[in-house]
Amino acid sequence: MGKSYREELVGVFGCPIDENPTVVVAEAAFKDLGIPYRYLTILVKPEDLENAMKALPALNMKGIHLTIPHKVEVLKYLDHVAEDAAIMGAVNTVWVKDGELYGENTDGKGFIKSLQDENVEMKGKKVMMLGAGGAGRAIAVELANAGAETILIANRPGSGRGEELVKLVNEKTSANAKYICWDHTLDVPEDVDILVNVTNIGLYPNVDQKPDINYATVKPEMVVCDVIPNHPHTMFLKEAKKNGAKTIDGLGMLVNQAVISFKFWTGRDCNAKVMKEALAKEYGVELE
Ligand code: NDP
Repeated sequence: MGKSYREELVGVFGCPIDENPTVVVAEAAFKDLGIPYRYLTILVKPEDLENAMKALPALNMKGIHLTIPHKVEVLKYLDHVAEDAAIMGAVNTVWVKDGELYGENTDGKGFIKSLQDENVEMKGKKVMMLGAGGAGRAIAVELANAGAETILIANRPGSGRGEELVKLVNEKTSANAKYICWDHTLDVPEDVDILVNVTNIGLYPNVDQKPDINYATVKPEMVVCDVIPNHPHTMFLKEAKKNGAKTIDGLGMLVNQAVISFKFWTGRDCNAKVMKEALAKEYGVELE
């Protein structure tokens, strides 16, 4: 008698969503903490997002992750948005308190933590980012918050996203951003300290693709990072490693953004090591 069969509900809304692996790290984290939480991987079509968000308090859910294509659209349905997330114009984590919806963006924070875990100094450094999409916006703002001095943003001409992100960084943060038109094989300037791939290039199933840069210009002093979580050992990182650069893969970002989100939902610090091991096992890769 008195036993509770109820579980606390969290999860992710996206479309498509089937291959999102966050449930693996979530269930490993909750099991490790011994807490009755369930992470649901939920297909929500764009036209259903408003109703889906309204359902969170109705179902007494603790919160939700948002992924493609909902991160920007969701802002319309929130009662409160954290300052950084408002600057980025994107939210990936919502939590529910007293029936109200609070939005945050933990993508960039998770990326920064993955660099801090490897003792990478960002203060006063020059960063070159390849790509300027949703993840790129979050990472650029958080790199600026972490003290990066210069951020070079390379993006293809046409979408305008590179120029737009440069404007955002220059107007809303203390970092100095410059746009590089990525219509040719790019050299990495030799004074770049940190090089980051924030494009989709190399994401499963296109694991044989790598960003169009001159890999001979990647130097051993550089830290080279990829956000691609699947498969994490990308061609981009393999090429950088051949040149002696220190490399950081996308697993750390995925796990760390989840750790931060789970704290909002559970009030507990989840074990990042347990989560990363679960993900590596799922992908059949060795942790570096
Ligand atoms: P978006 O679609 O918002 O942005 C994609 C970016 O990649 C754009 O800048 C786009 O340029 C660029 N791009 C795509 N294809 C090419 C190409 N062939 N050549 C040059 N540039 C290209 O995606 P997101 O920012 O949301 O996601 C980007 C990546 O980040 C994904 O692979 C995703 O899996 C990963 N990610 C990883 C996370 C983690 O925790 N590890 C968390 C969130 C995302 P253009 O503007 O010209 O189209």
